[in-house]
Amino acid sequence: MPLLGCIADDFTGATDLASMLVENGMRTVQLIGVPASGQPLPEADALVIALKSRTAPVADAISASRAALATLRAAGCRQIFFKYCSTFDSTDAGNIGPVADALLADLSAGFALACPAFPANARSVYQGHLFVGSRLLNESGMENHPLTPMRDPDLVRVLGRQTTGEVGLVPYAVVEAGAKPIGDAMAALAAEGKRYAIVDAVEERHLRAIGAAAAEHALITGGSGVAMGLPANFRSQGLLPERADPAALDDVPGLSAILAGSCSRATLGQIARARDVLPTFDLDPLATPDAAALAAAALAWAKDHLGTAPAARPVLISASAPPERVAAVQARLGRAQAGVLVEAALAAIAAGLRDLGVRRLVVAGGETSGAVVSRLRVRSLRIGAPIDPGVPWTRAEGDGPALLLALKSGNFGAPDFFTKAFATLPH
Ligand code: ADP
Repeated sequence: MPLLGCIADDFTGATDLASMLVENGMRTVQLIGVPASGQPLPEADALVIALKSRTAPVADAISASRAALATLRAAGCRQIFFKYCSTFDSTDAGNIGPVADALLADLSAGFALACPAFPANARSVYQGHLFVGSRLLNESGMENHPLTPMRDPDLVRVLGRQTTGEVGLVPYAVVEAGAKPIGDAMAALAAEGKRYAIVDAVEERHLRAIGAAAAEHALITGGSGVAMGLPANFRSQGLLPERADPAALDDVPGLSAILAGSCSRATLGQIARARDVLPTFDLDPLATPDAAALAAAALAWAKDHLGTAPAARPVLISASAPPERVAAVQARLGRAQAGVLVEAALAAIAAGLRDLGVRRLVVAGGETSGAVVSRLRVRSLRIGAPIDPGVPWTRAEGDGPALLLALKSGNFGAPDFFTKAFATLPH
């Protein structure tokens, strides 16, 4: 039975959290959306349900989160974690406050902590104020986010605008004093009638102390940082055995490929590096603005270049292009249409590659990954070891044959990511 049940408000955030739990000793599976009722759940110490609720209408975010909670409770989870972004991405209308309110009500709990801090990623909270590096949140660039502009760095105020409850603070001096004083301060705030406490944290040891203080909490809310302290609670309660290798994945032998749809600087650099050593095919949506035709051409090429041996080098199929070429495609097709067309082509190519025997696949691009996972009808990702920070190999299961999948958000990964990824797999 899973011990910890997590609800993440977006897909890459879910993977980030799942990786954190694996790193701290829990075998973790990420589920894509709320599973259908009756669908058997994979065996794991922690389950992470990935939603797309960050910027959804409030009512939709609440109902998806409540459905996720019901699934996790039915699976036997003892504690619930609500994961949001470490920059507290939300609007005055929500969705962090309203979702947390609904989860607390369903859990018949009266109090939860809120801590987005993640010092390793330069997110810290001091006196309730969120910093990104040395800048306050509202001067970090987040004030210009297209969907969730963050113009107030005081999280007590920000969360206060989103909830019907009251919000208090566990300040730095208390957090610095350790788990017991943090626990006492949270209990005192709850006794005063506060529904939430923003908890300061500027170092990893603070996050571990906060985790220890929250061992008995029904609901914990925060970024993936504060989850690092939770596996130790289950171990000290005798519920979680020492796992020899929580990141172990059953191998899936087969051919290898890389699909790139991200046009980020990091991905363009990784492609340039891989081009010298891997067979590479470039999609040209300007010359062929048709998803089916693009996919057919790429798959015909792949048939000739995939090789036959499972240990053969991966092939690289890329739509990625520098800004001027993307602009040209967008000028011709429209910005949204261009994205949809390329995503459809890459998703169809992923399905075709799987038919050709590909079982190990790296996908570059957040939206691109979403399109591929949905086309391949993947329902769960068992989280393995990271290739680079934030990008683990995963074992994907769903309607088709199992796959090893690495889903890379555009800007992640070192320049040699594409070749390095496959070198870490068994041959
Ligand atoms: P990232 O993680 O870098 O943001 P995404 O996959 O989320 O990457 O977004 C990249 C978007 O750019 C996708 O919608 C993709 O379909 C689109 N795209 C990729 N290549 C091209 C291209 N050559 N022309 C226009 N759009 C493209």
